[in-house]
Amino acid sequence: MGRLNKKIVRTGLETIYHTGGHLLGAPFLSGVGSILTFHHVRPARPDAFQPNRSLEIEPAFLEEVLKALRAADVDIVTLDELHRRLTGRDFRRRFVALTFDDGYRDNRDHALPILRKYEAPFTLFAPSAFAEGTGDLWWIALERAIARADSIALPVEGTLRTYDCSTDDAKDETFTTVYWWLRSLPSEAEMRQVIRELALEHRIDVDSICREFCMDWSELAAFARDPLVAIGAHTDSHVMLAKASPEAARADILRGVGELETKLGVRPAHLSFPVGDPTSAGPRDFDIARELGFRTAVTTRPGVLFAEHSAHLTALPRISVNGEFQRVRYLNVLLSGVPTALMNRFRRVNAA
Ligand SMILES: [Zn+2]
Repeated sequence: MGRLNKKIVRTGLETIYHTGGHLLGAPFLSGVGSILTFHHVRPARPDAFQPNRSLEIEPAFLEEVLKALRAADVDIVTLDELHRRLTGRDFRRRFVALTFDDGYRDNRDHALPILRKYEAPFTLFAPSAFAEGTGDLWWIALERAIARADSIALPVEGTLRTYDCSTDDAKDETFTTVYWWLRSLPSEAEMRQVIRELALEHRIDVDSICREFCMDWSELAAFARDPLVAIGAHTDSHVMLAKASPEAARADILRGVGELETKLGVRPAHLSFPVGDPTSAGPRDFDIARELGFRTAVTTRPGVLFAEHSAHLTALPRISVNGEFQRVRYLNVLLSGVPTALMNRFRRVNAA
């Protein structure tokens, strides 16, 4: 997200908060519960250029979130329990499920102690290649190449285009432009290849990034033994499934879930679609997840849960706890369902 966009979103959240819009809308829009998405939990870094900052929150903010949830009249539930309540239409109490994507080591070091303190169960969605140490965290490779360069050159539609990276603002702008251009490519393999070549050119050790950030199998096995932890599937290679053929999508999901079962001894019952927006997971992928027998599958489509979601268990929306907006009042506004109702134009289910 560019700086201007962040400012617009923040202004929108503040406006809803200060006009009490979240309180007016809440009884109609807040639904029966929500699923929260987290990625990294770690202390803030001083760097001015942090284009992936939305994917990390500080431990103190996680603690504020948990304190607020415990003070509110909601149950913090596992995804199994969420599934039970949705299918059994048990909506006597509002509920929230906590999910962490990708299997970052900082989740163990910084999040787990806080989750234990508040006795909050949660699901960690781990791509098997990340635990294997062979995963491609391409968004971090792109960040590091741009951080290091004064300019970068990329072959865009057959011509070599140069992008300014000489200041932090220029780096931000280049990252946003290049990131969304890459995301628009129909082939994920091509996208990853472009980033890999760029990273090598700027002497970024792409292969070590995964091992730097992600828990390996033995760490994951120890982590999974905590009674608060459920391990969920997140494919093998963290592929954007909608860009893959149906066979490749199915195979990547199965490889991921199979590896987790082999290495950890439990077959995950829940799936998180990598990236998870409509360009990465669509109705075909929701069907595949259902056919493969997952109890639930979660997207990153924004929204709270309604009773109607019991008919769309493999296309569930989530509320992202975004590192750019680390204020409990923003989260309260999001949990009211008002901003996502506006984004979804008041459609309760967005599974098309
Ligand atoms: Zn992920």
